[in-house]
Amino acid sequence: MLKKISLLLLLISITATAQLQSPAEFLGYEVGTQFTRHATVVDYFEHVAKNSKMVTFTEYGKTNERRPLTYAVVSSPSNISNIDNIRTANLASTGIIEGSGNADKAIVWLSYNVHGNEASSTEAAMTTIYELVTKRQSWLENTVVIIDPCVNPDGRDRYANWYNQVKSTPFNANQVAAEHNEPWPGGRPNHYLFDLNRDWAWATQVETQQRLKVYNTWMPHIHVDFHEQGINEPYYFAPAAEPFHEIITPFQRSFQTEIGKNHARYFDKEGWLFFTRERFDLLYPSYGDTYPTFMGAIGMTYEQAGHGRAGLGINTDEGYELTLVDRVAHHTTTGLSTVEMGSKNASQLISEFKKFFKNDNLKYKSYVLKGHPDKIAAVSQLLDKHEIKYGYSSNGNINGYNYNEAKKGSLNGAGALVVSTNQPKGKMVKVLFEPEAVLTEPLTYDITAWSIPYAYGLDAIASENSVQANGKTPVTIINNTNVNAAGYILEWNSMADAAFLSDLLQNNINVRFSEKALRFAGKDFDRGSLVITKSDNRTNPDFNTTLNQIANKHNRSLFASSTSFGDTRTDLGSPDVKMINAPKIAMLRGNGVSSLSYGATWHFFETQLKYPVTHIDTDNFNTKTLAQFNVLVMPEGWYNKLLSESNMTGLKQWIRNGGKVIALGRASANFADKDGFGLKKNKADDADNNEDETTGNLTPYDQRERSNVKNLITGSIYKVKLDPSHPMAFGYGDTYYSLKQGAASYKFLDNGYNVGYIDGDAISVSGFSGDDAKMKLKNSMIFGEARMGAGSVVYLVDDVLFRSFWENGKLFFANALFFVNNNKFTL
Ligand SMILES: [Zn+2]
Repeated sequence: MLKKISLLLLLISITATAQLQSPAEFLGYEVGTQFTRHATVVDYFEHVAKNSKMVTFTEYGKTNERRPLTYAVVSSPSNISNIDNIRTANLASTGIIEGSGNADKAIVWLSYNVHGNEASSTEAAMTTIYELVTKRQSWLENTVVIIDPCVNPDGRDRYANWYNQVKSTPFNANQVAAEHNEPWPGGRPNHYLFDLNRDWAWATQVETQQRLKVYNTWMPHIHVDFHEQGINEPYYFAPAAEPFHEIITPFQRSFQTEIGKNHARYFDKEGWLFFTRERFDLLYPSYGDTYPTFMGAIGMTYEQAGHGRAGLGINTDEGYELTLVDRVAHHTTTGLSTVEMGSKNASQLISEFKKFFKNDNLKYKSYVLKGHPDKIAAVSQLLDKHEIKYGYSSNGNINGYNYNEAKKGSLNGAGALVVSTNQPKGKMVKVLFEPEAVLTEPLTYDITAWSIPYAYGLDAIASENSVQANGKTPVTIINNTNVNAAGYILEWNSMADAAFLSDLLQNNINVRFSEKALRFAGKDFDRGSLVITKSDNRTNPDFNTTLNQIANKHNRSLFASSTSFGDTRTDLGSPDVKMINAPKIAMLRGNGVSSLSYGATWHFFETQLKYPVTHIDTDNFNTKTLAQFNVLVMPEGWYNKLLSESNMTGLKQWIRNGGKVIALGRASANFADKDGFGLKKNKADDADNNEDETTGNLTPYDQRERSNVKNLITGSIYKVKLDPSHPMAFGYGDTYYSLKQGAASYKFLDNGYNVGYIDGDAISVSGFSGDDAKMKLKNSMIFGEARMGAGSVVYLVDDVLFRSFWENGKLFFANALFFVNNNKFTL
């Protein structure tokens, strides 16, 4: 025992006498002369934490590829020894936790490298932490700095490993050199090719989910997201561009400007160019600047010239060489300047932050949501990720703005989910739930509509009065113990039902779905209900055990019918109760395919539906190999090259033989006006000729961009009619709210099924649409199925899997896979 203790003392004394090394000393090269692999960056931060009393370093999770997600906390030694009291005092000042405490420290959070190939910022994280602990101790007396050196390690290493493999030595600055041209999909996104800087609010990705847990325990006063932009655009920092969301306070606006002016001081001194206010706005809530802003912080994006093209050095179009060394210097300067501003203005930041969390003046006091329990559960899971409070109503009628009618109305509130704004995170509640965000300026960087009741397909009221709500309704645990029924029935309502079906098919349980409404023992089951019969599974000795196990795992309550004889004309053996063929699915990836759309679809199959798919590179696409599959999923993409004349002939033959193509979003455009596919574009009545229709004048040069706004739809929500009798619409009613991301418009299918469509004038309930673009949507198809021989082409013109956040659209995709034209066992 004694021996062990002395060994421990020896270790401690070795550690204490070891020197804190600069990044260059530790790495063996000057920062900016190499790209550092993520594991080595983590080693350096561990080294700093070990050798400085001013730093703690923590792993907060793992990425999909098992790289560590980490953060350092940097402050004075006395603050570090008291860090938990500092943290909880800040939280208590907002009302998020109870209690008090002396909140007197500014908290500045610096997030690096959310886009993996914007790789200068993680290098800058190392120089920044070293500068802080060796030269800027005075700022740390009243300031806590949190550094996440790499928000997206999988993407960063994808880029850094590729670059290190292909670069010339010394580097080649010529833009055409291989080291400046990343292969598909590039290092920007995470493992599932999601853009993590569009994921803060929806938290669909493991990186975001784990980061939000840490974020919620700190709630910083300032948050900076470090990025890179095109090689010819020098540097962008705050203040941001319009539109600003209306909840952003005057102090948040003005303090951004103060920070920007402080950066400008340093940049002017060095003769570095920059721009502000022109491009990156503060509206859509899923960014690393907006999300923290809506949570009370000064949230900002900084953009250095460079990203995946720049490598260690590149010749810009303006004739100078941009090097990684320069890029690191700029990001280090703005990071330090931000901490300086936090420290100099700590008391004002703290008092204004506290004020932000008082929310008794918001117009809508409560959002009340009602619908299928699976959908309510999905919303409550999202709220839990943000630690937003909610409850359930026992009220009767609740009046207010009715989302479905897009006007004043009412709703029976009994049992409804209630999310109120009079809570510390009330401003974020408003941003996520309000029917429509106020837009001061239609030209934005992202979509302008995302309201949760529409995204989750729920009935909802926004009430100007506070609605009483009680604690959480207990989750009912289902325990099926059914044996020996003639058949089992499950209504089809949600993605949870689709995941259950997926599991059954993979466990060789034969399942049918009903194209007619069913009634058994006085109970009604809507179209799309799943039917699992003893007859279809009679050769499977474990049928009942397996079925019960899978149903319990998915918390599905099966209705057991002792007979196949229905109360109505439709019995379980009816030809309208069709067998579901377990689909054999191929999906395209690679050149020509949108990596974002492919990634969202991959993530959907792998983590939500949990159904196997064969991923085929477009470079290896061959219509002969399609014979092994009966579904081909085409994510958004540009398939002109792939669909050569001979491939097109092969593809058509495969479809005629019973194959099914599912085209997501813009993938539909590849079939438009092509022989046999039944798809025709809706052309605008008059071609856009840059002429102002009211004056007849030609559009001047400086107004061209603004004038084009009339042709744009920047993500807005449209009311869509459904044909509820078509299998692709099973589980939905007769209307649906669709997120439209662009102005593409198609005519009704002549020889096919128009399952979702805009009939007459288009009705938008939220978000921006230019007048001409909206006009063009009149009488257009949104979701449809065209038959070709024995097979089908399914068009999902609005990409229902976009960023995985439009929860209510996902079932269309599952229906297209499992129900649409899918009752044949062989091709
Ligand atoms: Zn970026």
